Amino acid sequence: MASVTLNGISKCFGRVEALKALDLEIRDGEFMALLGPSGCGKTTTLNTIAGIETPTTGTVMIGDRDVTKVPAMRRDIAMVFQSYALYPHMTVAKNLAFALEVRRMSSPAIAAKVEQAAGMLDLGPYLDRYPRQLSGGQRQRVALGRALVRDPSVFLLDEPLSNLDAVLRVQTRAELVRLFQRLATTAVYVTHDQAEAMTMADRIAVFENGRLLQVGAPLDIYRNPVNRFVAGFVGSPPMTFVDTEVTGTGLKFGAAEIAASLPMRAGSKVTLGIRPEDVVPAADGLPAVAEVVEHLGGLQILYLDVGGVPIAMQADADHIFRRGERLTVRIAPDRFYLFDPESGQTLA
Ligand code: ATP
Repeated sequence: MASVTLNGISKCFGRVEALKALDLEIRDGEFMALLGPSGCGKTTTLNTIAGIETPTTGTVMIGDRDVTKVPAMRRDIAMVFQSYALYPHMTVAKNLAFALEVRRMSSPAIAAKVEQAAGMLDLGPYLDRYPRQLSGGQRQRVALGRALVRDPSVFLLDEPLSNLDAVLRVQTRAELVRLFQRLATTAVYVTHDQAEAMTMADRIAVFENGRLLQVGAPLDIYRNPVNRFVAGFVGSPPMTFVDTEVTGTGLKFGAAEIAASLPMRAGSKVTLGIRPEDVVPAADGLPAVAEVVEHLGGLQILYLDVGGVPIAMQADADHIFRRGERLTVRIAPDRFYLFDPESGQTLA
């Protein structure tokens, strides 16, 4: 086990600055998710830790060892790729054993490692099969097994679930959480799926455009986003944003006003952020119309028109809403998120 420390990392590909002044510490035994949209620099960060990419500036430490110039194979890390990268002409057993054979480990020791990994990942019945004879989920487990047998001090995983169908993805997500809880090994997990990051990680690092915006525990990121981008990226359905103006007694909200005591001057422009679960039915609330209703079984998502302002609302299934239904809603004032409309930064 080991921590990973990135200090002042930047990475340029020609004129593209893929990473900008990145400082990030991944603690010993921690499961860290790197989260952000396509092209934000997640994979470049992972590859920099792996030694597949050399940073333009900055240092990479694994534990207390500076590995910035150490080649990938001598970093004591194991990588699991989205594509699985299995050897197609080798059986599962051979795929698992291969890296250990290259290291000239003894046959009995290899057999013990393969058996242990196969046991942990439920691969026992498939050891004699070839990758083409496996389902996507089974292939993914073999890819993990190949990393596991090497006992790395750090696991690096690049979107390992993205080739699985929705049901298998959720199932495998929970299996991975259990596995890594048991292993207690440092893991860095790249994903663009906020639900994966929220459900799997001890902490999440959110990236945008080559920059690290925020690092924190999932609920901390969810409840205390540093800016509008993070607030909108984490949570499903996403936070609704409304451009509004501060009044003496609250905030303008379409044709109406919502009462709140705010520290800003009357007349200031702010962006109000509202999470769907913070919109609640209330007899004395604002009139709204449910324009779209999504029934998800135990809960419902309503896309409301509140006096000309479109906002999403999450409701339980006690009362089944219909499209076009009128209701009155309240937005819990202690749950307001306020952002600077220019910079997008969270306002205190
Ligand atoms: P995705 O989820 O799509 O994989 P990502 O967040 O992992 O995205 P990176 O792959 O790290 O993003 O890419 C960051 C930026 O660097 C992108 O603009 C990408 O086009 C660029 N980039 C990455 N690798 C190279 C390369 N080898 N040559 C040139 N540009 C690159």
